[in-house]
Amino acid sequence: MLDQLWAGWRQSFIEGGGAQRDASGCVLCFLGASKETSLANFVLYRGEFNYVVLNAYPYAPGHMMVVPYLHLAELMELREEAWRENAMLLRKCVAALGEAYQPGGYNVGANLGRAGGAAFDDHIHFHVVPRWIGDTNFMTSVASMRVMPESLPSAYRRLYPHFSTSLEVPEARTSRD
Ligand SMILES: [Zn+2]
Repeated sequence: MLDQLWAGWRQSFIEGGGAQRDASGCVLCFLGASKETSLANFVLYRGEFNYVVLNAYPYAPGHMMVVPYLHLAELMELREEAWRENAMLLRKCVAALGEAYQPGGYNVGANLGRAGGAAFDDHIHFHVVPRWIGDTNFMTSVASMRVMPESLPSAYRRLYPHFSTSLEVPEARTSRD
């Protein structure tokens, strides 16, 4: 139990003043504008319209977000080609998590608007969270928080190789057989 309470990376993140922001104060725009995929920003992949980044405040190890570069608050504002790439990246995230973590399931989706639970409600983003049976633990139910047994750098190193390959999911099928 005690080793699950250690989360030194999170402490340093908070002590460091939290996430960096761009001139308009948007964390997601700041991450999208950086030109690198690296341990410095935890960006795993940069597409044409969207990027993939580890969530700095994960609900589970490997919790990723697919984020459009454009600062859009409304789902309907996302253009068709960006939407298509976003969906392909969500699939890629699930495939990467499957290979790297073999979770028992996934949560995929978006919290739209403050009332919908979005931490950044003026820049839409989509979550991919791996789940395991019984992963809602004591800390969650009692203290409304979770403490991760894996650091962000460790999760990044584990997932990064899975984003060096094509966006196409190899086992994509055209029929239900
Ligand atoms: Zn933004």
